[in-house]
Amino acid sequence: MLMASDKDRLVSASEAKEGIKYYCPICKEALILKRGDVNAPHFAHYQNSKCLIAMEDGESNEHLMGKEQLLNFIDKRNTHVEKYLPVINQRPDLMYQRIAFEFQCSPISRKRLRQRIEGYHQLHMKSLWILGSNYRKRFGSDSVNKFYYYIDSIGFTIFFWLVNERKLEVRYNCQYVCGKLKYQRILLNKLSELIIFIHNPKTILKYHSSMHGVISQLTKIENQIFYRNQQMLKWQNVCYNQYHNISGAPFVCDIKQVTNPIVGRNFLIWKILIVSSIKENARLLDVYEFANQMVGIKFDYPLVNNAKDYVKNEFKLLIKRLITRKIIQVKNGRFHLIRQIKWFEDYYQKLNELSTQNNTIF
Ligand SMILES: [Zn+2]
Repeated sequence: MLMASDKDRLVSASEAKEGIKYYCPICKEALILKRGDVNAPHFAHYQNSKCLIAMEDGESNEHLMGKEQLLNFIDKRNTHVEKYLPVINQRPDLMYQRIAFEFQCSPISRKRLRQRIEGYHQLHMKSLWILGSNYRKRFGSDSVNKFYYYIDSIGFTIFFWLVNERKLEVRYNCQYVCGKLKYQRILLNKLSELIIFIHNPKTILKYHSSMHGVISQLTKIENQIFYRNQQMLKWQNVCYNQYHNISGAPFVCDIKQVTNPIVGRNFLIWKILIVSSIKENARLLDVYEFANQMVGIKFDYPLVNNAKDYVKNEFKLLIKRLITRKIIQVKNGRFHLIRQIKWFEDYYQKLNELSTQNNTIF
């Protein structure tokens, strides 16, 4: 921790003096001042302490340094450091006005994250979760995805703190295009810059899927079947049960391969499984839930409002496309087939057919 009390006030570890006793502001136990060559100055509890803070994993140097740097990023004078909030039994790294700033470097479960965010809500506070280098290395993975924000002006966004550059990195407008995660990024020096940026982000790119991207995704599926990728074989099996080949899925699945991070990288497979499950009189809801479950779509995004809607809307769009092409009708929540959807025999037949089309079908 960065702050401790002496007799009458809070003192930061960098200002603390040797030979003076400092105490934990929460448990009131005496603390050790640590000021070595390797780690940023900080206070630590003695071993066997039962304090809430001591129970948390030992703070990494990255966390200590980042916290100190973020203090300057926000506004050193008006920011509380490690202020304990007894009502919710939480201690945000930093607190400025009604915003808790958390510099997250260590792993945290989805459940714990949601509890902490809800704790702040209880006090009518917002929380800004800023991630450390271990998360940055895993960008695009499940452990990082739970920190997605949705911000109207810049779309799906994740925040990182770069200790070496002393800057906030904002990765925004995150979307999957043909199974690949695309994003824009900006580095910021001050909280005020972030606020200006969110109000006026200037260029927000509009992503498009290309013929090249579509073909490379088809090739990837074909390769994964060839190398017996277990997950792909499981999906292939779903199609086999309907006498279809996953590599020969109808073109309607390939249109608009751009989607949000909640639907994620398996968007194409998800659409293929939906189209393959459409049968006379099948319930829409069953087909939807089956596809979500098969590709493992998660809905638990504590920093996104109505996360489920991002998946539902993609489903509606696909169904609408099938209806306007006069392939299906929907009545009372059930599918009715007007005509058979054309599947290709295999990857090669589909490729041949693709090469005779022009780019405009996508
Ligand atoms: Zn303590």
